Amino acid sequence: MNIFTCPVCSEMLYKEGKSYICPKRHTFDIAKSGYVNLLISKQVGKTVHGDNKLMVKARRDFLEKGYYGKLLAALSETVAEYAENGSIILDSGCGEGYYTKGVYSHLKENSIEADFYGVDISKTALEYASKLFKEAHFAVGSVFHLPIADKCCDIVMTLFAPFCREEFLRVLKESGIFIMVIPSEKHLWGLKKAVYDTPYLNEVKDYAIDGFELIKSRKIAYEINIDNNEDIQNLFSMTPYYYRTGKIQQERLAALNELETEIEFEILVYSAKEN
Ligand SMILES: [Zn+2]
Repeated sequence: MNIFTCPVCSEMLYKEGKSYICPKRHTFDIAKSGYVNLLISKQVGKTVHGDNKLMVKARRDFLEKGYYGKLLAALSETVAEYAENGSIILDSGCGEGYYTKGVYSHLKENSIEADFYGVDISKTALEYASKLFKEAHFAVGSVFHLPIADKCCDIVMTLFAPFCREEFLRVLKESGIFIMVIPSEKHLWGLKKAVYDTPYLNEVKDYAIDGFELIKSRKIAYEINIDNNEDIQNLFSMTPYYYRTGKIQQERLAALNELETEIEFEILVYSAKEN
C-alpha cells in the first residue's frame, strides 16, 4: 500500500516502475537513492529550503556517535506501546532518518512489522535517509502540505521539526497517535553556559494542542561528555542558536575541546480526538 499523494492534484499516487504516477498522469521519478521528490514550487516559501548539506552532515555525524541514543531508546519504547503489525507510521520532518530507522529497528526486534514513511523538505537529508533505511518510503515535501492521504496514519511522530497541527490531524486515523519530542528547560545548558555570557533557559510551551488529547509524557534527562571540538561544533550547528551567534561566541566555540552538558527532552504522546 502507498499513502503518498500527488502534490499537484492531491490524488493518490501509484508506483509504476521507477516512478510514482497519479490518475491524471502527473509523474514523479524515484531518485537513485530511493526517495521521491513531491515538493512543488508553490508550496515552498521564499526562504526555507531545509537544512543544507553542511548541517545535515553535522547532524548525521553527531547522531551516529550515539549521544542521543537514550532519547532514541525511549522514543522507540514509546512508539512500540502503540504500534502493531501493519501500522503506518509517518516521521514528519524526518531529516536523515536516524530516529525513523532506529524506531523501526526496535519494533522489528520486538516482532512488530510497521510500514514507515518519512517526509522532509531537505533533499540532502533524504539522500542519507534513503540509503540508511531502504525499507522505508521517503518523500521530499513540506510539513505544511504533507503529500500524504487523509486519515491513513496510525502514528505520526515529529522531532525538532516544523509543526503543523492541521496537517497532522488530517493524515491521522481517528484516534491515531501523535508523538512529539520537545527540548526541556535545561536542554544543552552546559553548551549555552560555555558560549554565552547570560544563557537563558529554554521556554517550554503549553502542552495542550487543539484537537488532540495528551495521554502521556515522559522526560528524558541525562548528561553527555564530549571530548573533541568537532562533535561540539556539530552539536551546536543542530541548535537554533547556530543562526544567531556572533563572533565572540564562535571563537569560544572554536576553542572548546571538552564539554559536559545536560540533555533534556520530553516525549509527548497525544491521541487525535474524534470530531
Ligand atoms: Zn496528480
